[in-house]
Amino acid sequence: MSQEVDVAIIGAGLAGLSAALTVGRLGHSTLVMTDGVPGGELIKIEKIDGVPGHAEGVPGYDLCPITQEQAEEVGATFMDSPATAIVADGDKWRGTSEEGDVLARSLIIATGTSMAKLGIPGEDRFEGKGVSECASCDAPLLRGKTAVVAGGGDSAMQEALVLADHLDKVIMVTPGDVLTGQAKYREAIEENPKIEIRYNAVPTEILGEDSVSHIKLKEVASGAEEDIEADAIFVFIGLVPNTSLVAGLVTLDETGRIEVDASMRAAAKGICAAGNVRRGSPHRAAGAMGDAAAAAVAIDRYLATGTWRNS
Ligand SMILES: Cc1cc2nc3c(=O)[nH]c(=O)nc-3n(C[C@H](O)[C@H](O)[C@H](O)COP(=O)(O)OP(=O)(O)OC[C@H]3O[C@@H](n4cnc5c(N)ncnc54)[C@H](O)[C@@H]3O)c2cc1C
Repeated sequence: MSQEVDVAIIGAGLAGLSAALTVGRLGHSTLVMTDGVPGGELIKIEKIDGVPGHAEGVPGYDLCPITQEQAEEVGATFMDSPATAIVADGDKWRGTSEEGDVLARSLIIATGTSMAKLGIPGEDRFEGKGVSECASCDAPLLRGKTAVVAGGGDSAMQEALVLADHLDKVIMVTPGDVLTGQAKYREAIEENPKIEIRYNAVPTEILGEDSVSHIKLKEVASGAEEDIEADAIFVFIGLVPNTSLVAGLVTLDETGRIEVDASMRAAAKGICAAGNVRRGSPHRAAGAMGDAAAAAVAIDRYLATGTWRNS
């Protein structure tokens, strides 16, 4: 089966959903290729902070489906099958998937980022048995217990605060000597009696029988190791861009993110990028929405004029 549209959007996180909404409003046919439930990183987030108009935060499991509904109302369609390849086909682009192909005059790449892994013994073995990336999913199951949070940036702090609402103790482990990211989170962490911070330390092994029981920590400077008791470990140590699909088609920066101009146009004619996947992304929900609007407008101009960047 092959479908033909003006715009194919790859990825249905907040950037892809917002792009579908604006592309649809601009009157173009669009199909979104998704990898699982639309919503990406934010679908399980209890409280997205910093979204204008939502002073108390907005749940990701509300915002993302609402955005999808809005996009569908203006004609966007969804194919629940991840893109497995993208190739040029004449002056169009063909996205392939197990469910069929999409032939599109233009593309918006919104494949986001994946969570970096620690790459230590026990991480794969205990996945789903104490190793997690979702505090709001697992915190209620860990009531009264102890968890380690690996990482010291915004996501780590935000998720540590969610865990502290349910658990007895949360131990943040960060290789640096400060927590980085938003001051509001730092202050809340430092004031929370349930959260302990281990600076200049890294987890080196996850231990247990059927599920996690201990985490081995190493002090960075001295190399000294100790096993601390913990029922779970949540890993928020960085992001890896999902750009393998387009690696040969567009220019990537040194981190693997897609190079774009101020209108979100990539190096290849007709391809824009939006959200976490593009170079210089602020990694914020509002940023994903803004990128999506810019990309949709750039595509609209391209479809009308056929010109691209300096062409
Ligand atoms: C724990 C955590 C908490 C956060 N909290 C906040 C917050 O409070 N406030 C805030 O502003 N920001 C927050 N962020 C950041 C925010 O989530 C991101 O900036 C934003 O969601 C990025 O959206 P995106 O659409 O670019 O990427 P993603 O959400 O990563 O979505 C990309 C989607 O593309 C899919 N995909 C990948 N490859 C393919 C393929 N080949 N075919 C089809 N689909 C594919 C992925 O599976 C995914 O569903 C948080 C992030 C994390 C991790």
